[in-house]
Amino acid sequence: MKKIGPSTLAVHGGEPHVRPSRSITEPLVLASTYPFEHTEELHAFMQGELERPEEYGRYGNPTVAAVEARLAALEAGGAEGFGAVLMASGMAAITSTLLAMLRAGQHVIFTADVYRKTRVFARSYLDKFGVAVDIVEPSLAAIEAAVRSETKIIFTEAPTNPYLRVVDLEGVVALAKRHRIKTIVDATFATPINMRPCDLGVDLVIHSTTKYLGGHNDLLGGVVVGRSGLVEAIREQVGTLGAVCDPHNAFLLGRGLKTLALRIERHNRSALAIATMLEEHPKVAQVWYPLLASHQDHATARRYLSGGGGVVSFEVHGGLEAGTKLVDAVRIPKLAPSLGGVESLIEQPALMSFYDQGPEGRAQLGIREGLIRLSVGIEDLEDLRADLLAALDQM
Ligand SMILES: *Cc1c(COP(=O)(O)O)cnc(C)c1O
Repeated sequence: MKKIGPSTLAVHGGEPHVRPSRSITEPLVLASTYPFEHTEELHAFMQGELERPEEYGRYGNPTVAAVEARLAALEAGGAEGFGAVLMASGMAAITSTLLAMLRAGQHVIFTADVYRKTRVFARSYLDKFGVAVDIVEPSLAAIEAAVRSETKIIFTEAPTNPYLRVVDLEGVVALAKRHRIKTIVDATFATPINMRPCDLGVDLVIHSTTKYLGGHNDLLGGVVVGRSGLVEAIREQVGTLGAVCDPHNAFLLGRGLKTLALRIERHNRSALAIATMLEEHPKVAQVWYPLLASHQDHATARRYLSGGGGVVSFEVHGGLEAGTKLVDAVRIPKLAPSLGGVESLIEQPALMSFYDQGPEGRAQLGIREGLIRLSVGIEDLEDLRADLLAALDQM
C-alpha cells in the first residue's frame, strides 16, 4: 500500500467508513444503550453468533469508535493491525492501562520526570497493590540497571516535562525486548506529527488528548494506542474500570484532530523561534528546547523528533520573583496549567505543579525557582515575540 501522510490521516484515518445519511462529518451518537430486536437476537449476540458493534455505552460508542480508528491510523502511519482506546482523561488512560497490564509481584520502571500525577500513581497506588516501582533517570544506563526478572513494563515520556528530555527510545526498546518487557511511552508533548514511537517498536503510546490532539483547551481526554491484541485486552478491562470517553468529548476531539498537522507546524515553528530568541536574551539564564543545540538530549531529539513541539522552558535571572514579574507582565499567554492548545499559556512550575514540594523538594527534583514553562500557541509569532520582549524589559 502507498504510504499515507499524517495530515491526510488526521482527517481521513479509519476510512472507508460510511456514515448515516452519508454525512461528511461523524455524527454525534448520544445513547447509553442499544436495543435488541427480540430475545432471539439477544441470544445470538450472547452466543457470539451475531456481530454487533454496540451493546451498552460503557462498552463502546460509534462516535468514540470512529475517532479511535482515526487515532490508531495516525499513530501507526496508516499501518494495519493497530487499535486505540479513548478514555476520560490522560490520567485515566495511564492508570487504566497500567492497572489492566499489571498484577501483584510485578515490577515497573518509570523515568524520573514523567508527568507528576503518573509518579503519584506509581508511588501511592501501584505500591498499594503489591506492584514494585523504580523511578530512575531518563537514561538507558539507569533504566538497564533497574531491570529485574519481575519487570513487566518500562514507562517513559518523550519529550518530558518541563525539561523536554528525550531518552534513547530505540535503546530502551531493544533492552525491553531482550527481557520480554513491554514499553509504554507517554508522547503527549510530541504528538504523532512530531514522533511515532510505534515505528521504533514501542508497544503502547499514550497521549493526554487534552493537550495537542484536542488542541483547543476545551476538552479532557486520553488515549492508548498499540497493536490490536494488546489494545483490545486493555479495552476489555476499561469496560470494568469505567473511565470511558464521553461521546461529546470524542466529537470535539475528532474535530480538533483534523487540524492537528497544521497546528503542530505552527507550534513547532513559533516555539523554535521563541526559544532561539530567549537563548540570546541577557535576562534569560538558560533555555530548554529539544531542537536547540544547547539541549542535553539534542542528538536523540534530532533522531526521533521531526519538530520540537510548542513547549519552551526557560530560567530567568532573579529567581522566583523575577519569573513572577515576567508571567504577570505578558499579555498574550495566559497564566494557567496545561499546554498544547491554540492559546499560549505560561506558568512557573515552582508555583504550579511543584508548589507542594517546597523549595527543598524542588531543588531535589531539579526544578529551578526561576523556571518558566511557556506553551506557545498559534497566535502570530511577531505578536508573541514583541509581548515577551516587552515583558522581559519590564522584569
Ligand atoms: C496533561 C498530561 C497528562 C495528564 O493528562 P490529563 O488529560 O490532564 O489527565 C499526562 N501526561 C502528560 C505528559 C501530560 O502533559
